[in-house]
Amino acid sequence: MLDDLLIRNRQWSAQRNADEPGYFARLATRQSPEFFWIGCSDSRVPANVVAGLDPGEVFVHRNVANVVHSSDMNLLSALEFAVDALHIREIIVCGHYGCGGVRAATEDLPHGLADHWLEPIRRLARAYAVDLARCENMDELRDRLAELNVLEGVRRVSETPILQRAWADGEPIRVHGLIYGLKDGLLRDLDCTVAHGDVMNGKMTVYGRE
Ligand SMILES: [Zn+2]
Repeated sequence: MLDDLLIRNRQWSAQRNADEPGYFARLATRQSPEFFWIGCSDSRVPANVVAGLDPGEVFVHRNVANVVHSSDMNLLSALEFAVDALHIREIIVCGHYGCGGVRAATEDLPHGLADHWLEPIRRLARAYAVDLARCENMDELRDRLAELNVLEGVRRVSETPILQRAWADGEPIRVHGLIYGLKDGLLRDLDCTVAHGDVMNGKMTVYGRE
């Protein structure tokens, strides 16, 4: 299996260099991605591929169910580097429908450490229980919860001292919330972009259900 992977890598590298001579030499000197992507670890939602971006164009942090924990040093370190060192202006929190992490957060079963990790999603499900109860089935409920998890992620990223400081310095950074459909390969804008000076006021909307 690993041999196959290494063979495919050599083929890809050779093809890339044939298409664009000097490609890797240029890319090795610096990275200047336009986007910072916070997404789910799910193998079906690779940031570069679904966004149609090449190596060097998106700086990526992924974890189970794209949860933004306000004390996650891994995420915060990547966010700080993206903002302060790479001067990225577009931050994307991207969830996806059919997310196994969101599903686990709605199940009354023990999942070990994942239950600690997914606690913010369980909390969202409790906070929006009345809205979510209007969903016609569990699949729909989980998809609405995946959307809420993205909105919450956008809010939490926006509230970090990293973003607050950058905005105070006049940096034109925007934080977007997207959700990806495994069934159609499409990204949807959840229309919850936070930009300089904005705040996410009031209660979030469960999309598609006012
Ligand atoms: Zn997922």
